[in-house]
Amino acid sequence: MHRIPEHVSVKSALAKLIGVDSRGVLSVYLNTSPDRVAGEAWRISYKNQCRDARCGLPEPSVAAFDRAAAEVLETLETSSLGAPGRALFLSEEPEFFYSVSLPSPPKEVVAWGTAPRLEALQRAADDFERFGVVLLDKERARLFTVVGAKIEVSHSFEDDVPGKQATGGWAALAQSRYARHREERVRRHVARAIAALETLNASRPFRRWFLGGSPEAVARFQNDLPPDLRETVRGELHLELFASDADVLGAALAASETAEREFEHTKVDNLLESTSRSTLGVDLTVEATEDRRVGELVVADSFDSPGGVCRTCDRLVPARRQCPLCGGEPDLVPDFRQRLLDRALRLGAAVEIVSGAAADKLMEHGGVGSWTRF
Ligand SMILES: [Zn+2]
Repeated sequence: MHRIPEHVSVKSALAKLIGVDSRGVLSVYLNTSPDRVAGEAWRISYKNQCRDARCGLPEPSVAAFDRAAAEVLETLETSSLGAPGRALFLSEEPEFFYSVSLPSPPKEVVAWGTAPRLEALQRAADDFERFGVVLLDKERARLFTVVGAKIEVSHSFEDDVPGKQATGGWAALAQSRYARHREERVRRHVARAIAALETLNASRPFRRWFLGGSPEAVARFQNDLPPDLRETVRGELHLELFASDADVLGAALAASETAEREFEHTKVDNLLESTSRSTLGVDLTVEATEDRRVGELVVADSFDSPGGVCRTCDRLVPARRQCPLCGGEPDLVPDFRQRLLDRALRLGAAVEIVSGAAADKLMEHGGVGSWTRF
């Protein structure tokens, strides 16, 4: 029997899988970035990993492992691998089969045990949520990452920069040399802070970060940033360099909330203003999803719609209409919204759920829309 996995988000997978204890669970993490899928490198890698995992198993588990490994392969071969990474978890219990799209390629794993392997899933959840904070003036720098409303790592350093006025009765020439010397020290301090931010981003990746401190140092820091970091800075924090960790955390969480709301607002505004490669409203968005054109689904948290599934061809059909593909009759389903989300995720689309004012605005246009691939 060919089971179809339930497609779930990283967060809901964690909620379902943490604490699970079973006779045997297969956990699979695969790198499904475009070059791996095109050359089918993922398949060779998956088979090799299965062979290695099978070697260490006690005899009674081998048959169950083989069945699960074959089931995963069949699922991967018959589904679209749109996301850069995929995690699958399954046991022989009928409902226990989950598939998760990952935002970045994971370290590949095939493992069998009584509990699912969740480290990489947890890391993906953290990476998604994490943000960075930099406070600096001309001599000091403090860097933080924040995950789950807590400071995860913090790091600070000072550079010795001489004061503005040289003491003693120097001539004008000496004064200007002194100023250049000071200027060079400040430049080095800023460069060191940027390098520290890059190192932090490499070890604890964040999709957004915030900057605060003395206006002059902040301006120079921003000016010297490499483009990828300049694109992800989301706002300024008004904090003293000596602020307590608790104050830094409070200000950063508030800024992050605001930035997230602005991000959702911009996303909805762009969609409403778009004239190509996008859809608005349930009819066109369901059609684009079923035609496998959707790259990103944007859904208001309050969105819901009546709808059904075509008895003949399994297509999602909004409201009580006939199937536009085959003219068949749909069976109405109580969870049409969830089925639309599942189908988009299964096709490798990203799903962004917006709330608050952005959701209200999207609800005026049907509550759902999408960016399409073509
Ligand atoms: Zn149909």
